[in-house]
Amino acid sequence: MNKRRSFLKRMAAASTLAVVAPDISIWAQNATPAFSLPVLPYPTDALEPFIDKMTMEIHYGKHHKAYVDNLNKAIVDNDKAKDRNLDFLISIAGQLPPAVRNNAGGHYNHSLFWTLLAPAKGQQPGSKFMEMVNASFGSLDKFKEEFAKAGMQRFGSGWVWAIIKNNKLLISSTPNQDNPLMDVAESKGYPILALDVWEHAYYLKYQNLRADYIKAFWNVVNWNEVEKRIISSQGK
Ligand code: MN
Repeated sequence: MNKRRSFLKRMAAASTLAVVAPDISIWAQNATPAFSLPVLPYPTDALEPFIDKMTMEIHYGKHHKAYVDNLNKAIVDNDKAKDRNLDFLISIAGQLPPAVRNNAGGHYNHSLFWTLLAPAKGQQPGSKFMEMVNASFGSLDKFKEEFAKAGMQRFGSGWVWAIIKNNKLLISSTPNQDNPLMDVAESKGYPILALDVWEHAYYLKYQNLRADYIKAFWNVVNWNEVEKRIISSQGK
């Protein structure tokens, strides 16, 4: 190729680039995942011995990551879900294909769950929570008993929730990766406490003993975050 032809070819390539510039920005958007794995607020061994390091590594690094990755794949060809935020996807979950509903729920629920856990330092429920517990359940022990019962009765995989509905504290549970903010939830409300009762959340340490895992959970609840969520629930 002579110099002149090479120059013309470069010019042509440059002008082509200029023309397709908007497409490059679209490509850049597509190359950046819409959703990403949030940073875990503590090291993976921080919840030991109640929730072990290996379970946390796999639960956060593999399971939660898979929900994020699969959600990003599932929204690509869905006009209802594309370019929407997670709150919106959760609110219309019943109108979405299973791949979007399940992975959006998985991403939402785990992102929330990590914030509701904290290293065991003898933390106790705050005054706002205790006020609601006493009004709805009479005592903290009764609340824990009902919460554990909901966890044990959830057949297969799912979640247990403490939710606020009309300023009242309730316990509910959802199958799979559904949650109480979804349009499809049997019992809707604002979640202030969540427990993952999928086997992947406890099997390595507790094997089939879900009840022991639920009992251990109380040691690592982030009650400060629960108090904050009670304040956030007002007006919702
Ligand atoms: Mn999980």
